[in-house]
Formats: sequence, C-alpha cells, structure tokens
Amino acid sequence: MSDSFRVDAYTIPTVARESDGTAEWDATTLVAVHITSSGRTGFGYTYADDATAAFIHRHFADLTIDPMSPESAWSAMIAKVRNLGRRGVAAMAISAVDAALWDLKCKLLDVPLVSLLGPVRAAVPVYNSGGFTSMTMDELQSAFAGWGRVKMKVGRDWRADRERVRAVREAIGPDAELFVDANGAYTRKLALWQAEAFAEEGVTWFEEPVSSDDLEGLRFIRERTPIEIAAGEYGYELQYFDTMIAAGAVDVLQADATRCTGITGFIKASVLCESRSIPLSSHCAPSLHAHLGCALLPVRHLEYFFDHVRIESMLFDGFTEARNGEARPDLTRPGFGVELKTKDAERLAGP
Ligand SMILES: [Mg+2]
Repeated sequence: MSDSFRVDAYTIPTVARESDGTAEWDATTLVAVHITSSGRTGFGYTYADDATAAFIHRHFADLTIDPMSPESAWSAMIAKVRNLGRRGVAAMAISAVDAALWDLKCKLLDVPLVSLLGPVRAAVPVYNSGGFTSMTMDELQSAFAGWGRVKMKVGRDWRADRERVRAVREAIGPDAELFVDANGAYTRKLALWQAEAFAEEGVTWFEEPVSSDDLEGLRFIRERTPIEIAAGEYGYELQYFDTMIAAGAVDVLQADATRCTGITGFIKASVLCESRSIPLSSHCAPSLHAHLGCALLPVRHLEYFFDHVRIESMLFDGFTEARNGEARPDLTRPGFGVELKTKDAERLAGP
C-alpha cells in the first residue's frame, strides 16, 4: 500500500471543434494519478475517458507497491484485470498508474527518468502534429509554417485531401518532412491511389491509410508504395504490436505509453522493435515520451500533438517546449520533470 493514492479526471474543452478522417471531438480528458510513498509523490497520466479514473480507483487504489519496482505492480495489475479484459480502459488505467510509479521511483532516487533508464541521445526529434480536417486552408498553412517535420489529417474527402496536402507542402517548403494520417478512413484501393498523389508532394509517412485492424490491407498498401506505412497507436498490449509487425503491416511502429500499459509496456514494445529492426515512433503525450525517446534506441521521433501540447503547456509545471525540432528532457528535475497544476486543471475543466 502507498501512503496516499489519488486519481482525478479533468475534461478540458478544445479551442474549437476538431476532426480527423474518422472522429470528431470538442474536449480531451486527462486522467491524473498521484501516488505518495516515503514522502515523495509520483505523477502519472493518460488521455482517456473518465471511466478510466473510476476503474483505477476501484481496482488499483489498494495496490501493494514496492516503490523501487514499478514492474512488480505492473504484473499485479495485469493479473488483476484478467477477467475484465486488458485492452482499452484497463490498459489505460494500468498505464497511468505505471507512469506514476516510475515517476515516484525516480523522485525517491532523485534522478530524471531518462537518467534512470540510461540516455542514448540528448534530445529526441519531434514532428508537429495536428492539421485537423476541421481546419481551414489558412489555419493549416499557418499552423505548420516554419516546421521541418509535420503531420496532417486526411480522409474526409479525397479531392480536398490532395489540395490540402499541396497547400501544406507550399507552406513548409520543399525540404520539410510531410506526413499524413488518415485514421483508417480510406479503403485499400483509394488509399493506394491517394498514396500516388501524396508521393508527388513528397509525403514520406502514411499513417493508418486503412483501419489499423486491417493488417492485410496495411501490408497490401505498404508493398505498393514507397511511402512508409505507420500504425500502432491503438496498441494496448505487447501481443498486438507483435502481431502487427509479424503481419508485415508497418514500416514504423507507433506506440503510446499512456495506452500500452505505461513506461513498462513501452519499454517492452521498444525491445520488440529492436529485435525486428523496426523503428518506433511515440504517439502523443509529449512530456512522458520525451524521456523514453532519449533512452530507447529504436525511437525515431515523438509526436508533438497539438491538443496535448496545449494541455501540458497550460497545466504541467515544468513542461519543456520543443525547440529546433527536438524535445530535450529537463535534467534538473526528477522523474518526468512535470507536476500537474491541480488548481488550473480544476478551473479549466469547469464544474
Ligand atoms: Mg494517428
């Protein structure tokens, strides 16, 4: 048992209604876990439904923890959700608790997470991610201008997608890296057809051209385009990533420590990528992934996602902005180096 265990959910409205190829939203929920032991408090989080907070409270609040071994609590949590189903809410709940336990361990040892794991690079490359299908052409262009690596959403209308990709290329110039994410909106043949048009604009990354559940479809497209195919953000467990890679579905695997059972799960995914010679790219939650990106060899870059950058820059004391296309963890602060500004979170989430 910890000295104190606290879980909160804050639903923060977006600036405007946003959409991608297959979803629309007007808010993002941050689920925050604080675990105190021996006078130090670890902070972990996930972006999930507020049911995740209720799940954590109900199933993990009385977890036996060894603050020096997040892995022991991780395996206890995995065992505890056996009959409930590991994917989805349960995995996100485990992720937030696992992250808080790693943060706690770092604070007890007074080291940043990257130092505890052992750095392999001083900074991790980032790409600016947003470019929602709900944005006007002007908004798209001004959001990305000046960035050397960007990712935009496509998938609502194939003609408009081509025009928008052309407009973003114009805004970022010929040398910047341009990625697209269809969030599974296209059919196999349409995706292939779009890939040809996108390749002409120098697009080098095509994320979820078809549903990430269609592994055969991903492979079909991957084998027929020079553009790299990426997927994996809905991976909640190691077996999912293993199956995806074994199917030849991706050139680059994506994983999200706030979904794939935390820091512990992300490290396992990284080892899998290393053994299969597949690069890994982290999905969203930049404050968590900055440390992992600097400590794990297979990580190529980090997704600097608009909604999460906005929330973390407003609500996380110690948030480090990306500079010159890189995220550099603050080595003067222990753990992830961020603390939730609870009062501000309560105020922004409203009643
Ligand atoms: Mg995506």
